Amino acid sequence: MRPTFLEVNLTQLERNIEAIRARVAPAKVMSMVKANAYGHGVDGVAPFIEPFVDYFGVAVVEEGIHLRELGIKKPILVAGGTLTEQLPLFAEFGLTLTGSSIALLSAAEDVSRISGRRIKTHLKFDTGMERIGLHEYEAEEFIEYSLRLKHIDVEGIYTHLANSELADRSYSLMQLERFQEILRVYETLSEPPPALKHMNNSGGILNLPEANFDMARAGILFYGVYPGDESPRDLEVKPALKWKSKVAYSKRTQPGRSVSYGSLWQAETETRIVTIPCGYADGYFRRMTNKAQVVIRGRKYPQVGRICMDQFMANVGDDAIETGDEALLMGDGISTADFAEWMGTNEYEVLTSISARVPRLFVNE
Ligand SMILES: *Cc1c(COP(=O)(O)O)cnc(C)c1O
Repeated sequence: MRPTFLEVNLTQLERNIEAIRARVAPAKVMSMVKANAYGHGVDGVAPFIEPFVDYFGVAVVEEGIHLRELGIKKPILVAGGTLTEQLPLFAEFGLTLTGSSIALLSAAEDVSRISGRRIKTHLKFDTGMERIGLHEYEAEEFIEYSLRLKHIDVEGIYTHLANSELADRSYSLMQLERFQEILRVYETLSEPPPALKHMNNSGGILNLPEANFDMARAGILFYGVYPGDESPRDLEVKPALKWKSKVAYSKRTQPGRSVSYGSLWQAETETRIVTIPCGYADGYFRRMTNKAQVVIRGRKYPQVGRICMDQFMANVGDDAIETGDEALLMGDGISTADFAEWMGTNEYEVLTSISARVPRLFVNE
């Protein structure tokens, strides 16, 4: 195997999901495995975690089909926007549709009637994202329309929080109030609401326990990473991922010698420069140049010189670091949040940017 790889601790993922389950019970848990399980490698993560979750969540229909091809039997919600021409795939692979418009519901009804396979649907309301879904003030028309359809199964209804990771809960509480307003429409129509009402993402699980409803959709928290830096850290989850590599080259260099493209770093004294076979094509962002750190033999060293496509260099001073020594790029002393800071982004983008060229090694404890 390539010496640069991700080690994913499946046992830790299981512990994370159990901690989340204990927190949201009796609500069910949907595990969000979109974007290659937030970079962790969906092929290993999804089959392992299936017994411990109630529902899977993905962003696009192709990800749902991939889960079915992996042998996943549990229900799968495709949370993103869907085009009508993709609807036959929902019937064929038994995927749950996010019903985000009247046109989409109407087309799903036609596909279900013609194929004889009932498409499961969760109605999507927009209470403050302005992304997909209908506004709360359009709820009556949308719900009445959905109740007339006889060939699709409206199993759920949901909305998505825009600011759930913030300490200030006012925007989330406004969204909650709008969602409750939508649910009251069912009362006025003397109809039972769908069985699965859901709203919370990771931030909501931590900050908005009153919004767990029937299911929580756990993404980043499932991977042991907290959303933002304001939410309470009182849930026993831990990162499951380590990004490892090995020193591929080690040499002494002289004062005045500059390292890498653009000569952005120069040795001031005689020092040892090591090369790590990992670069921005692996998701080790070029923008972390001269900011990132790497752990070798238990010590942290600064990354120096421009990060290349396939390699980067680090300055290990006078230490006797040799070719073949293990280098830890992420995990233990280096967090996803550190990457996010060096990169000027959030932990989500860091994780989902680790590219397909990096093999994923799945381990059990
Ligand atoms: C990705 C996603 C989530 C999970 O968000 P986290 O902040 O990672 O928990 C929840 N719901 C929907 C609709 C999503 O697309």
